Amino acid sequence: MRIAIISDIHANIEALSAVLEHIADQKVQDIVCLGDVIGYGPNPRECIEIVRAGRFCLMGNHEEAVMFYGEDFNEKARQALEWTKEQLNSPQYDRTKNYEMWNFLGSLEETRTEGDVMFVHGSPRVPTKEYMVPTDIRNREKMTEIFSMIPSLCFVGHSHIPGVYTDNFQFLSPDRIGGAYNHQGGKALVNAGSVGQPRDGDPRASYVVFDGRTVRFHRVEYDVRTTMDKIYATPGLPNYLADRLIVGR
Ligand code: ZN
Repeated sequence: MRIAIISDIHANIEALSAVLEHIADQKVQDIVCLGDVIGYGPNPRECIEIVRAGRFCLMGNHEEAVMFYGEDFNEKARQALEWTKEQLNSPQYDRTKNYEMWNFLGSLEETRTEGDVMFVHGSPRVPTKEYMVPTDIRNREKMTEIFSMIPSLCFVGHSHIPGVYTDNFQFLSPDRIGGAYNHQGGKALVNAGSVGQPRDGDPRASYVVFDGRTVRFHRVEYDVRTTMDKIYATPGLPNYLADRLIVGR
C-alpha cells in the first residue's frame, strides 16, 4: 500500500491542484484527507468536490464548525466560517449539489484505523480539536496518554506543522530527518502539515507519502499570489488570511 496523506487544505484550490499534480508522479494507490478541507480560503466547493473522490476524508474542526457552532473560533476564523456557510448554501448552485456537499460533510468520520495505522485530524484524545505542536514533546503526560491510544503509527494534521513525534519523546522536523522517516517498531505520531495554509514558516504546500514503512515529507510550490488576490477580492474573508499565506505563518 502506498498512499498520499493530505490535510488542512482550507479551501485553497491552487495549493490543492499543485499537490495533486505532484502526487500524480508518486505512484500512490490512494489519497486520504485528514480534514479541514474548508475554512479560511476562497474555494470551499471546489476543494470538497476534489476530496470527495479520494479514498476517505476525516472530520476537521472546520467541517464540524460549519455544521454546528464553532464557539471556540476566533473572530477572523468565525468570519471566514460564516462566508463558507453562505457559499455552501448559495442559491447560485443547484439545490441538489448543495445537499450533496452537506451530506458529504455530515458523513465524515472522526477517526479511521486500518491495520496498525490510525488517522485523525487533531489527536487521538480529542479527534477534531486537540493540537499536536512540537513543544508537546516535553509534556510527558500528554504524550504518554496519546501514545497509549495509538496502535503503532498515527497520522494527524490540524496544527499545520509537519513532523514526527516519537515514543522516546523526540520531535523530528522533516528537515532534521532529511524529509523521510523510517518507522521501525515503537510508536510514532506523524503530522502531515497543511496543504493550503502552512504555519511552519515555509509557504509551500505540505503533504506526505506513506508506503507502509517510510513516511516521506513533500513541499510543493504553488501560485500563492492568485490565492491571496482571491481572498483580498472577497469582502467576507479577512485580508489577514491572505497575508499569512506568503509567510507561511
Ligand atoms: Zn486546519
